[in-house]
This record gives sequence, C-alpha cells and structure tokens, in this order.
Amino acid sequence: MRKTSPPTAPAISSPITRAAFDEVMVPNYAPAAFIPVRGQGSRVWDQAGREYVDFAGGIAVNSVGHAHPQVVKALTEQANRLWHVANVLTNEPAIAFARALIEKTFAERVFFANSGAEANEAALKLARKWASDHFPAAGAEHGETDKFEIVACLNSFHGRTLFTVSVGGQAKYTQGFAPLPAGISHVPYNDIAALCAAVSDKTCCVIVEPIQGEGGVTPATREYLRAARALCDQHKALLIFDEVQCGSGRTGQLFAYMKYGVTPDILTTAKGIGGGFPLGVMLTTTAIAASFAVGAHGSTYGGNPLACAVGLAVLNIISAPETLKNVDARHRQIVAGLNELKRKYQVFTEVRGDGLLIGAELAEKWKGRGKDMVKMAEKHGLMLLIAGPDVMRIAPSLLITQDDVEQGLKRLDATVAELLAAETSAAA
Ligand SMILES: *Cc1c(COP(=O)(O)O)cnc(C)c1O
Repeated sequence: MRKTSPPTAPAISSPITRAAFDEVMVPNYAPAAFIPVRGQGSRVWDQAGREYVDFAGGIAVNSVGHAHPQVVKALTEQANRLWHVANVLTNEPAIAFARALIEKTFAERVFFANSGAEANEAALKLARKWASDHFPAAGAEHGETDKFEIVACLNSFHGRTLFTVSVGGQAKYTQGFAPLPAGISHVPYNDIAALCAAVSDKTCCVIVEPIQGEGGVTPATREYLRAARALCDQHKALLIFDEVQCGSGRTGQLFAYMKYGVTPDILTTAKGIGGGFPLGVMLTTTAIAASFAVGAHGSTYGGNPLACAVGLAVLNIISAPETLKNVDARHRQIVAGLNELKRKYQVFTEVRGDGLLIGAELAEKWKGRGKDMVKMAEKHGLMLLIAGPDVMRIAPSLLITQDDVEQGLKRLDATVAELLAAETSAAA
C-alpha cells in the first residue's frame, strides 16, 4: 500500500540505533546488536565506545585493516582531484592500477567491476562469448554455440546476481528465484572423477574457488586444480578461478593460484583488493579478452578513479613481502591458538584453511550453533565470522599484529568458556 498520510518517521535528528535498522531496511540482513562507528588497524569501536578485536575483517575485505594511512591518503588525494568520468573516458588511476596488476600476475588484460559478483558475472559472460566467437554452431547467425556449458562446484559461492547464484553450488541461494539461467552443472568439490565426467567439448568454462570460503573454508587439493587445468586444456574450455575471497594476499601469496602452481585463464578477485572500497577485478589474457570487443560488456562505475586509486594503494601494501610474511606468521599463531582451544574445550573437530582465511569445524554438540558463538564473542569484544552454520571463520586484516591476535584469542577463549558454562548450568 502506498503511504497517503504525512510521513510519521522520526526526524533525521532522532538517535540512530540498531532498532531503527529494522524500521528502514529491507529485512534481508540480521546485523549484530552493536553499531560500529570507528576503526583503526584491527580494532573497532561501537557507538557506546566499546572496543572490539576484528577477526572478521568485514568478511575478508579489510585486508589492510581500518583507516590505513597510505590508503586514506590515496583516497583523499583522489577525492580532491577527480571522482568519476565513466568509461566514455579513461582515467590515470585505472591505467596505473591495471598495469600494476599485470606486472604482478599472469594477466595481460584487466576488467574492473564494483564487486565480486560483478567480476564473476563478467568472467562467466566472457567465457560464453569466447566460446560463441571461437566455436560457433553450424549455420549460427546470432552467436549460437553448443559450447555453452558451465561446470561449477557444489557448495561454491560466486555472488548474488541471478547468474552467479545459479552458478554457485548452494541451492538455498536460488530458491524462489526461478527460472534460472540454463547450461550450468554442479560437481562435488575436490572430486576429480566427477569433474572428468562433467567436462566435455560442450563446456565453455570450469569455475572453481581455490579455497571455498562461504562454503566452509575448504581448500582445493593441488591434484584437483591440476586436473581441472588439464581437462580444460583437453576440451578447449576456460578455467576460471574465483579468488574473490582467497586471493589478494589472503593465502600468504598474492594470489592462491601462485601457491598452487596452476594458472587459470580468467581470475576474479574483489573483497580484499579494495580494502573496504567497492571494487572487483577480472584478470585474463589478451587472446581471451579479445572477445569483449567494444560494446560487449560494461559497467558505469567499473574502473572508477576513486576505487582504482584505493586498489593500487592496497595492492602495493598486500604484495609487499613483509605483509605476506605476516600472513604466514599470524596463520601459525591463530591455528596454534585454535588447536589449543580444540584440546581444552573439545569445541572444534578440525582447524583448516590457509594464510588468514581460517575455519574451525564445530564439534558435533555445537553443530548449528556458529551464530551463538559469534554473538557471545561480541559480548567479549571480539568480531568473528561463520562460514555456514557449522564452521567458525577468521579472516582478519593481513596486517593484524601479534598482540591483536593474542588479545583476540584470549577473548575467544573467554567466549567458549562462557558458552560452555551456560551449557553446564542449563543442564544442571
Ligand atoms: C564474497 C564472494 C563473492 C561475491 O562478492 P560480492 O562482492 O559480495 O559480490 C563471490 N565469490 C566468492 C568466492 C566470494 O567469497
């Protein structure tokens, strides 16, 4: 029903509270009870001035922590110069950032978007277009091809646009949104035989997360990614690595493909590459990029000077050897801490992941209670994540200090201890 009476909403000057969120927002999120207002490094403060250790990193986004001076400088300098021109013009930050990405990776060409989903949307469309260009169906007049099939993994996550939820391997994200794009099949992750059976000459691309993030922090095996590469070569299909979450320094190498020693044809990254500024990146080769001729794809904001100035500043920090060394050192520290909690409280069954993308599988009696743990952690001044209902996830800044990790682990210990105490008193 349309509103006919004068607006009764509180004046803009009324306090901004968590309760107000439920009055003004579409109800697709259920944010925490506190509202953060300020961040510095890996610490965050809420409206009441309470301080938190940030083990969540804005879901693997705040790769250089909050308010990093070099990034603030890059952003404010650009903000004082030029915000936006759209792609009828180009701009200096976009070219400089693309050049830096090419220097540091397999890529020869770059496409900029504003999010991970958009980077994947571009990658998937490029694969279809590439197949249409190089393998047209007999008598094709409008780009028809039989080589349109996309092979993706069960439990994968590739974003929330209709195409990317359809390619993603989690049915809960497509329910209610049918009809879905066609020509997509899903195979169990890390199952080479299933992949062999699924990939054929009709396949235009295989898309894989080198580490499944949302799906529960599960790394691919090296054999699996090698097999995917070989199958794509054999059937002339493109291999897409979705490194939206696991790329951009998170594994302790600039991109996960470097660690695995398997090079994709197209790589997408987002999250950490913008450090908190909306930014998505698709990397590929000159030959494949040729299928995105003038007019084939686009984005009003993609390659925006503000985003690219930030991206370049972030890239310079996350590709520095000291940063990547810190990722390895903090990985060891966090994994040791989690294994200690596992031993002390039997709360986890497995600690896994790579670099600063770490998951801890909840023990049987804790299954489905990841959200309770996140909530209890807030009470103890710790921001945590889950990856599905049964896996606790930690994805902090790549620059998080030894002290911050130590403090965070202490707070996690207190969190688990209180959850257990509540359990025991409830049982008594
Ligand atoms: C988060 C994520 C996406 C989607 O990124 P958005 O920026 O939310 O659109 C895609 N793929 C992976 C692997 C992700 O973790």
